[in-house]
Amino acid sequence: MSQNKRPDGRATSQLRPISIRLGVNKNADGSCFLEWGKNTVVATVNGPRPIFPKHLADQTKAVIDYKYRMACFSVSERKSPVPGKRDKEISLVSGHALEAAVMVEQFPNTVIDVNVLILSADAGTRVAALTAASLAAADAGLPMRGLVSAVAAGRANGELILDLNKEDEDTPDAVDMATAFLMPQRELVLLQMDGCVNKKDCSKILETALKGAEVVYELQKKALVEKYPMDGEIQ
Ligand code: ADP
Repeated sequence: MSQNKRPDGRATSQLRPISIRLGVNKNADGSCFLEWGKNTVVATVNGPRPIFPKHLADQTKAVIDYKYRMACFSVSERKSPVPGKRDKEISLVSGHALEAAVMVEQFPNTVIDVNVLILSADAGTRVAALTAASLAAADAGLPMRGLVSAVAAGRANGELILDLNKEDEDTPDAVDMATAFLMPQRELVLLQMDGCVNKKDCSKILETALKGAEVVYELQKKALVEKYPMDGEIQ
C-alpha cells in the first residue's frame, strides 16, 4: 500500500467514516442503522418464528431469509422496487455468510427474517448491509459464534486500496473484491469480485480486506458494548 492520497483524501488503506446505531426500529427484534461514507443502511432481524409453508423447513436448523433491497431513491437514477437478479444473488450469499455467525442449529424448523434496505448508495453497499445485519442479529439477542465484519478492497488507478467508493469503483482498471469474515475467528465467509487481477495482487487485496474487517469488527463491538454495557466483555 502506498502513502498516496485518493480523490476523497483517504490514504490507500483507510476506511470511510462508519457510524452505527442499534435498536432503531421498535417493530423488529433487533435493528441497526449504519452510515458508511455516503452509504446509508437500515437492517432489521425478526425471529426465529415457525416457517410456512412447512416444506421450506429444515429439521436441523433455522433458515435465514436474508433480503437485500435498494430503495428507489438510493441512487441518482430511480431504482425499480422489484428485486432484480443482483438483489437476489446478494441476498443469497449474504444469508449464507450470516449463517456462519448465528447458531441456527438451536432453532430447527424455523425462519429468521433479515431485511436490509439501502437508503443511499456509494459503492460497497452489500458489505455495509452485511455488517449492519450481523449487528441487528446480535441486537435481537440471537446466540452467535461471532460477528460478520464485511469490507471491500481492490484496485483503482493502479493502487491497491481498501473500501472503494463509487469514484474508485468507476475507474477503468478497477477491481472490487467484497469480503466478509466471521470475527474474531477471521474465517472468510463471503468473497465476490469484479475485475481482473493477478494471483499476487489478489492475495494482497485479501490481506488488506482482512485488516479492514478487523477495524470494522472493533467498531461493531464498540456499538454493542455502548448499548449493552452490563453484558460483559466481547472477545
Ligand atoms: P456494491 O459495491 O455492494 O455492489 P454499490 O453501491 O456499488 O454496492 O452498488 C449498488 C448499485 O447502485 C449499483 O448498481 C451501482 O452502480 C449503483 N450506485 C452506487 N452508487 C451510486 C452513485 N453514487 N450514483 C449512481 N449509482 C450508484
